[in-house]
Amino acid sequence: MIKIRAHAKINLSLDIVGKRENGYHDLSMVMQSIRLADEITLKPQKDISVQSDLKFLPCDDRNIAYRAARLFLEEIGSVSGIGIQIKKQIPVGGGLGGGSADAAAVLMGLNRMFGFPVSFERLLEIGLACGADVPFCMTGGTCLAEGLGEKLTVLPPMPNCHILLLRPQFPLSTKKIFGLVDMQKINFHPDTKGIINALHNRDLEGISVRLFNCLEDFVPRPEIAEYKRLLLAENADAALMTGSGSVVYGIYRSLEKANAAKEKFAKMGLRPYLTAPVSKVF
Ligand code: ATP
Repeated sequence: MIKIRAHAKINLSLDIVGKRENGYHDLSMVMQSIRLADEITLKPQKDISVQSDLKFLPCDDRNIAYRAARLFLEEIGSVSGIGIQIKKQIPVGGGLGGGSADAAAVLMGLNRMFGFPVSFERLLEIGLACGADVPFCMTGGTCLAEGLGEKLTVLPPMPNCHILLLRPQFPLSTKKIFGLVDMQKINFHPDTKGIINALHNRDLEGISVRLFNCLEDFVPRPEIAEYKRLLLAENADAALMTGSGSVVYGIYRSLEKANAAKEKFAKMGLRPYLTAPVSKVF
């Protein structure tokens, strides 16, 4: 039996650089792993099964962790199965890549359990077959993710800081939000190069001032802008929606200010969660 942590991610930027004929968008994103993680337990057994503490999550092959396990076991020609237990901590439909993180953890965990029969490069391909963000979740840390999210360039780690998450009561579907994107209506793009330079210079302010997510303008929920305003009013250095939402986060250099904001938001009933960037996930 092994236990493994499946780390969530935030987007420091999300740029939409094109649309393919099949409807998928070409992206350019700076992604960052954070400490918040689901806990995955893997136990050898005859068949594949998924159990989770969230009743509404599917446990069959609609669960991305199940699909990851099936693809891995097929890859190594195994006739045995695996029991996957997921203790969900990452809000579902939050843009924090929770499902992708679970799939990544299952692939990395199974490879370790079976004595590393699959190369990391091949494991990344299997991850991509599960979902576009899975290769990033397997790599972790700080990366530029291009294409559908699978073309990864490892970047220097984000400078130390505190990340305060605000989770609206509603989930957002990634597919639905991308379906609302109108390329003609994107009139501002993030300064991705500027963020990368700031990472190289360990310049947190240079990162903070450049946070930008092209999807924010297409989310038909006023709460996103409202939560960003709240974070900025509570001394966040910068605030942004992650991925396709609905979670909004604030960056704080000062732990004191982050804690004060957290307390205030908790009193308002907003379910804040304080976390931090991590540079190594597996
Ligand atoms: P992303 O930012 O990668 O789009 P997200 O955080 O917005 O992800 P997730 O929480 O990963 O969204 O998952 C959204 C959908 O995936 C839900 O409809 C959920 O039912 C389905 N799903 C399948 N497997 C899982 C899993 N292991 N954990 C969470 N959601 C899962």
